[in-house]
This record gives sequence, C-alpha cells and structure tokens, in this order.
Amino acid sequence: MRKIAWIFVVSVLGPSLALAWLAVRSLSNQEIVFERQQTLLYQNVCNGVAKDVMAFIENRKIEFGRQVEALLALKNPMTVARQFDALLVEVWPLAQVGFAVTADGEVVSPSLFGRPDSRRFRLENDSFLSNQESVEVYWKSPKGDIPLSQLDGAKGDKFRKVTPEKGAGAEGKVPSRMSAQEAEFKQFIGNASDGILARFLQNKLKLWMWYRSPGNTQVVFGAEIKLPLLQESLRPLLQPERPLQPDICVALLDDTGKPVARSHPEFTADWKRPFVAAEIGEALPHWEVAGYLLNPTRLTHSARTLTLTLGLLVCVLWLAIGVGGSLLVADLRRQLRLTRQKTDFVSNVSHELKTPLTSIRMFSELLADGRVTDPGKQRTYLQVFAGETALLTLLINNVLDFSRMERGEKQYRLEPCDIGQIAREVAETARPHLEARGFHLIAEWPDGPVHVRADRDALAQVILNLLSNAEKYSGESKEIRLQLRRARGVGGESVELRVLDRGIGVPAGLEERIFEQFYRADDSLSSGIPGSGLGLTLARQIARSHGGEIHFERRSEGGSCFILRLPI
Ligand code: ADP
Repeated sequence: MRKIAWIFVVSVLGPSLALAWLAVRSLSNQEIVFERQQTLLYQNVCNGVAKDVMAFIENRKIEFGRQVEALLALKNPMTVARQFDALLVEVWPLAQVGFAVTADGEVVSPSLFGRPDSRRFRLENDSFLSNQESVEVYWKSPKGDIPLSQLDGAKGDKFRKVTPEKGAGAEGKVPSRMSAQEAEFKQFIGNASDGILARFLQNKLKLWMWYRSPGNTQVVFGAEIKLPLLQESLRPLLQPERPLQPDICVALLDDTGKPVARSHPEFTADWKRPFVAAEIGEALPHWEVAGYLLNPTRLTHSARTLTLTLGLLVCVLWLAIGVGGSLLVADLRRQLRLTRQKTDFVSNVSHELKTPLTSIRMFSELLADGRVTDPGKQRTYLQVFAGETALLTLLINNVLDFSRMERGEKQYRLEPCDIGQIAREVAETARPHLEARGFHLIAEWPDGPVHVRADRDALAQVILNLLSNAEKYSGESKEIRLQLRRARGVGGESVELRVLDRGIGVPAGLEERIFEQFYRADDSLSSGIPGSGLGLTLARQIARSHGGEIHFERRSEGGSCFILRLPI
C-alpha cells in the first residue's frame, strides 16, 4: 500500500500539483499578457493603415507622372511647361498649383501674374526652386536616402523626436524616424525621374510631387497637392478590419496632433493620448495614424474575464486531481481489502468445511464400531449426519452460487410456492443438529399457506444461512426464534420471515457492511467463529432478485434480528 501511495504521489499528484502551481503563477501575468497582445494587434492595424496611406500617396505620384506625359503627348514640351499650372489644375483635381522648372533653375510656371495661389507659390518658393536658397525638406529618394555628402551645404540630419504621450498604449507608439534635410531643389531631385517632397512653411505642411519625363529631362514638372482633398480621399483607408471595428477608432492626426479624418466620425477622445500610433512617412511628416479604444474598460474587463476563466479552469483541474486522487486511493484501499478478505475466505472456508466433517466422522465411527445399539440414539446420529451434510451443502452452494453470481450466470426459477412450507422443512432439517448442540428452536407459523413467487432452493438457502448464522453467533444464550408473518406495507401485502437470536449482535456501524461480500465483523473473526463472509451477501442478492429485501435490526435486549421481506 505504501509503495502504491508513493508511486501515486511521484507520478500523479506531484506533477499535477507542480503544473497547477505553474498555471496559477502564469495566471497572475495573464492580464498583462492579454493587454500586450491587444496592443500588438492594434499596433499592427495602425502600421497597416499607415502603409496603405503611404502607398496611396505613392500612387498619386505615379498618377501625376501620367498626367504630365498625357500633356506632353499633346503639346510641345516648352508650351506645356509655360502653361503647366493652368493645364494641370484643369485635368488633375488634386493639384493646388502646378509648376515647371528648367534644368538651369528657371521657374517657367506658374506665372508671377496668375491666380492668387500661383502668385503665393512663386513668392514662397522661387528662391528654393531656382536653387538660390537651401530649405529644410522631408524627402525620400525613390532609390533610398542619398548620402548627405552628395548634398552641397547639407547641414545633416535633424531628428525631431516625437515624445510618446503617457497612457495605456503609449508604449505602442514608435519614436519618430522623420528627418528633415536642408538643400536646394536641384540637389534633392538629383537625376531621379520623380519624387515627393514635404516642407513646413509658416508651420503649414506643403506636399509636392514632381516628375521628369524621360523624353525631356530639361524640365521638371511638379504639383503642390490640395491637402484637404487628399485627406478626404484617405478617409476610406482608415477603416480597421470588420471584427475590430467595434473596438478601435483609427484617426489620421496632422502634425499638430489634430484629427483630420477618423474611422468613427462621432467618436472623440483626448487625441494626444492614443492607445497605439504609427508614423506615415516622409510624405506626411509628423502625421500619424493613431488608434483609440472605443471602450477602454472592455479591455480590462476582457482581461479579467480571461483570468477568471483560466482561474476557474485551474480550480476545476485541482478539484479533478483531488477527487480523482481520493477516488483512486479509495479504490486501491477497497481492492487491497478485497484481496485480504479473499485470502481470509480460503482459510475460513477450509475451517468451516472441517467442523461438520469432524462431527460426521466421529458419529459414523461410533455407528461403525457397533457400540451404539439404542435405535433412538442411532436415529439421532443419523439426523446429525443429515444436519451436518445440510450445512456442508449450504457452504458449498454458497461458494458456487457466489461464483455464478460474480460471472452473472446465476438464474432463479420463480414459481408459486408456500414459503411457510419451505421454512418448516428447513427448520425441521436444522432442528436435530441445533438441538444436538443445545439450541432451543422456537418457530411461529401463520395460519394457512403463504404463497409467494420464488425459487424454492434459493429461499431455503437464505433461511438456512440465517439459521446457521444465528447458531454461530449465539454465544452462551442458545435460543433461536423463527417467525413467519404476513405484513402490510406501502408496496402492498408482503410476508416477513424473521430469524432472531440472543447472541453477540452486530457491532454498531456495521449493520450494512455485513452484507458486503467476504465482509466479516471483527468480533466474528477474532472469536474464531468459522465463516466465509458470503452468507448474507447471497441472502440479500436472492431477496432482491425476488423483489424483496433483507436487513438487520438490533434487538433491544441484545441479540440480532434478520428480516427477510418478500412480496406476496
Ligand atoms: P459468515 O460466513 O462470516 O457468517 P455472513 O455473510 O453470513 O458470513 O455474515 C457476515 C458477518 O455478519 C459475520 O461474519 C458476522 O460478523 C455477522 N453476522 C451475521 N449474522 C449474525 C448474527 N446472527 N449475529 C451476529 N453477527 C452476525
């Protein structure tokens, strides 16, 4: 038993408890892990939208190139260059102003005397476009960053760091990678065929796209973009994927941190405190795609629910381990007890066989010697033989029936019979044996027959078992009563067969256990009374197969009373 207990502790209980402990430990971090996962998920959404916005602007640049080529296909390049502002604004709504600059830095369009927008453009940008002034520009070369050494007079990278706001998702916000570089227009465009420039003029963002036709590299065409229109076109890109739409609002923040477009128009928040944010790129410097939780408490709530669910699972696991473990231990104990009882059973049965055999041998020797000549005595001896053989038969029947019962092969032949007659026959068979041992058997019968549907042999076996027990456990007081009476109960009319003795009685608490297979009360074991522990098990099994029951009752003045109740 101890070995099995150790194996159980080492192989099942120990590892399960260790696992459960690890689960509880990880449980405490679960909320943080969940929030991290959510942050990462929403960060990915913002990164994706930022990429889409950048791709959208890149596509507008390609579109601009196509517009220029279309104009060049219609007219002479210099004519197109001179009239570029007017021509472009007419065909491309995204253009605020169109400009054309020659390789020598001469600004041929827009006209200094044109629309107010054209005039403003010339005033603001002439010296930069004609390479007389270096300005700070956010810019990305189509072939990657041009080494600063190629930019004459370049002052070097200036990084304006975006300080992450404090808040739940502040950790998801990336520091700004944006760098402005200072140079003249010619240096920025180099030999490239197209590009995007962004610069701040009086704190206002200006976005340019430029293009140089392969057929005429002498003129660079460009456009200042209408930002409000661009923002409007970007709005559809801000929608997060459908499953995330109830959770997060995606907003496009300008360089001042104000939302210029958002996925949920009715939603407002402290725009400076996004849950996650991603920069867009050089085309829209310091603009961000920011994500805001629509229902911030839901995240904590979901995290708590997750923790609670996992906690419950761990508890269930513990409970299962506990219940499973105790069931296993209980079953083990039962198996061990059964094994011990089976071992006892073999020695008990051998002992019980020996007692009647000794009597039979003794009396048969006396008769064989011819020393007993009195016919009365001879008859008594023969009756003793009959009684002892009946006991032997009973024991052997008990063992055989039990093994049949175990294999599920035991079957009863139920037929109408008079239980009074069966009981009388059994009593008369047992009487000589009992009286020879000094017992006084008092039988009380009802008037007339009492019919039940029963297997005669099985019923006789039950009565004989009860009588045999009354004899074995009677001790000094040698009075046995056998009573048969009709009774009326809830289930209808029944018959009660009582076997009463004034013997040692059944110890308290064992009233039901004595009906278990092989079970023998400690008293009967220690006092050396032979027995197999099967008599009552079989009696109960037979009673139940007949639709009845058998149980024990303590007698108030001492002794036992076994009651067999069968339906009439
Ligand atoms: P056994 O062969 O041991 O008598 P049983 O199944 O007939 O087996 O009885 C089980 C146990 O019940 C006995 O060992 C004994 O302890 C107890 N018992 C049965 N009948 C009596 C009785 N009449 N008086 C006291 N104890 C009894």
